[in-house]
Amino acid sequence: MPNFSLKASETSPPAFNWEAWYSQIGGRKIKIEEVDQILKEIYEVQYKRFEGPVNPFKTLFDSPEAASNIIKVKAQEFGADIVGICKIEATDIYKGKQVTETHAIALGQRMLWRKFQVVPSQESAIECLRVYHTLGETVIQLAEFIRSLGYTCKVEHPIGDSDLLHIPIGLKAGFGELGRHGSIIHPKLGPLFRMGSVICSIEMSCDQPINAGIGKFCDICKACRIYCPAKAIPDHRSPEAGKDHIGLDRYVVDTGKCFPYFASHYYCSACLPVCVYNHKEWARDFEGFQTKLFPEVIFENPPEPTDGVAENLRHEYNRVHREPKVTSKNPE
Ligand code: SF4
Ligand code: SF4
Repeated sequence: MPNFSLKASETSPPAFNWEAWYSQIGGRKIKIEEVDQILKEIYEVQYKRFEGPVNPFKTLFDSPEAASNIIKVKAQEFGADIVGICKIEATDIYKGKQVTETHAIALGQRMLWRKFQVVPSQESAIECLRVYHTLGETVIQLAEFIRSLGYTCKVEHPIGDSDLLHIPIGLKAGFGELGRHGSIIHPKLGPLFRMGSVICSIEMSCDQPINAGIGKFCDICKACRIYCPAKAIPDHRSPEAGKDHIGLDRYVVDTGKCFPYFASHYYCSACLPVCVYNHKEWARDFEGFQTKLFPEVIFENPPEPTDGVAENLRHEYNRVHREPKVTSKNPE
């Protein structure tokens, strides 16, 4: 029996209930053969590898710093572009869940800017899923490595169904700051990356949240808000939503407006490539491919906002600041 257990905090949000949200818009609408194939691979092959034998002989580390270094180097060998470590707190856990591990090793892998030159598009949708799969592989391999050292651990796959909220873990692990669009912006990679983690109870040294002035920059830049086809990104911060990790009031994306657009337009993603941060390394895509500096954003009439998802199944912040003419359609 584990001798440590941590439950979600009173304020933790429920995990995103995809089926409840999809049922509000008449079911899943994105049909792309490559995407379906990747999803099948994740659910039918990768999920089975979440568990495995633990070496009965434990490797001991000289210090928490040594443990942290060994694990970070391995994570990068397995394909992570960024790695950070933090302690798990109750607010990092989804409502109704609990964990028996003390630390999270957060891993990030970037998506290719050149695949987001037109958004929403089939190409950008496939790139999102491609990285869910490759980062999933990285996370699984790191978990296998940790078990080979004699420690139990748990995989928090980037695609979801996890116990932990990826964003607060990424912020605490020093990945970047929270942008107006609700995603983490890394000072070098920008927002165009995905996150997953492995959780375990190895005593490791932790990283710290960073303050690189990105959140402050969002206060004057509104590119993502201007280009969001569903008008889901806010003009102002919301003091009632609490502070982010560096003490700024949060920006609250209206998930009830984003979701129907996202779910019927190739996972949308427009707010990520239009973000001005460095993910395009001045239009050279980190790998030398010449690209456009800004993507072409396809604006289409957004579908009706989704307001019918039960309160206890909403991920968070749905309908904050909804205009009166739209809220009048609410069932309450
Ligand atoms: S994913 Fe699309 S609809 Fe959702 S917030 Fe970003 S730009 Fe707006
Ligand atoms: S586009 Fe501008 S406002 Fe939006 S998240 Fe990026 S930097 Fe912040």
